[in-house]
Amino acid sequence: MNRRTKIIASIGPASDDEATLKDMVEAGMDVARINLSHGTLEDGLERYRRIRSVAESMDANVGIMADLPGPKIRLGLFEDRRILETGEEYKLTPGTGPSGKDTFTVAYDSLLNDVLEGDRLIVGDGTVVFKVIGSTSDSLRVMVEYGGKVQGKPGLHIPSDRLKVTTPTPEDLRLLDAFVSAGIDMVAVSFVRSAHDIRRVGTEPAPRGPLVVAKIETRSAVDNLDGIIMASGAVMVARGDLGAEFPIQELPHLQKDIIARCIALGRPAITATQMLESMITAPNPTRAEASDVANAVFDGTSAVMLSAETAVGNDPANVLRVMAAIAQRADQEFDYEGWAHQIKRDRLMEPQSVDSAVTDVMTMATWRAAMEMGVKAILCISRSGFTVRAIARFRPMAPILGFSPDQRTVRQLSMSWGATAIKIDRIESNDESVKNVINIAKQEGYVRSGDIVAVLGGSSATIGATDTLRMARCP
Ligand code: PEP
Repeated sequence: MNRRTKIIASIGPASDDEATLKDMVEAGMDVARINLSHGTLEDGLERYRRIRSVAESMDANVGIMADLPGPKIRLGLFEDRRILETGEEYKLTPGTGPSGKDTFTVAYDSLLNDVLEGDRLIVGDGTVVFKVIGSTSDSLRVMVEYGGKVQGKPGLHIPSDRLKVTTPTPEDLRLLDAFVSAGIDMVAVSFVRSAHDIRRVGTEPAPRGPLVVAKIETRSAVDNLDGIIMASGAVMVARGDLGAEFPIQELPHLQKDIIARCIALGRPAITATQMLESMITAPNPTRAEASDVANAVFDGTSAVMLSAETAVGNDPANVLRVMAAIAQRADQEFDYEGWAHQIKRDRLMEPQSVDSAVTDVMTMATWRAAMEMGVKAILCISRSGFTVRAIARFRPMAPILGFSPDQRTVRQLSMSWGATAIKIDRIESNDESVKNVINIAKQEGYVRSGDIVAVLGGSSATIGATDTLRMARCP
């Protein structure tokens, strides 16, 4: 069985050169992520153009995701790596300059108003924890509750219900405009708290605009999960900040719940952060990391994500090869039937929508027909990718081929579980389209004469209703 779970890899200084990018595509990178928390807009756009040109030169379907920083708060630069020891006391003061010996700057103007005595502030993804023990007119006094290393400009996690800033920020919207003009495929929004935050992104619905990915990393996002999923094109379980916002023992359960909800609502779910963290420097993952990747697959994730491992790690292509091997092996052991039965219970694309009810019934019928007849492939004819994502919810054993006349849909499907996307010239009448996609599937070697296939699509030009299923024998 080919790998069905997709892989997103963050691109950074370790993976910027064309040779490394090519190795990463060959090793299984489905989506490249540009984390806009680092570098300038121009750096990000250059990275975008380079990835696009490498993927095109290889004729590879690689989606590109721009990850907006949101109101990410950072400590001022630590020129040299330092160790902060447990029990030491420091001052935090609002400002953008470098951090000093005893006073660290924090790029957040309302620091003194929003943070209260007793709050815990987490540095990086938990390397150091400060406890606020008092304040003066110009700074907060903090004690190092857990010591560790700091370097560069580490993130500072302030409990999200304390923050007054909203997402997307004016800076996010500036970055978004530039990437939308450049033709970006997916945009991730950080520190989302409600569906309203996603609506404020304001881009055209996919595929005319990018697929909007809501990063779930605040308590409010967990409370407003269904509304956020419905307003988004996909969701990311952003475990770095989510794990700082909730007690750590809650994280595995939040991950399971968010993924299950997201897939039931027909959106891809991404599991992110520290999946193969030790491979930033090591050639092999820890045993716990290997299990984490496999367990994310068993939880039903559509894609797994690499961050620092490929952005600043020693050997990005090696990390991808390892992740691809673990994910592919886990795909073989996935409980396909159990999962489909759960989706049959939960299925709900868009509550109260007739189109959605039709899609629910048709995709369930397709899954059942595919299983009972052992079809060779499920061929989806889809303008926006909606049909492909809707059938992917059921995790059918048969390969899913998504045919679309829209190049952006094809790239957006690079993140969808189990889908191989193929560009077609146009969608013709139903009969012609069915013949056409079967021919292409044969030419590309996915099916052979005599194979039974299921062909799924919408019979009208209206995006949003999957209302036709044809069982066909390949001529
Ligand atoms: C996370 O918090 O897990 C995450 C993916 O976001 P970022 O890398 O922007 O911190």
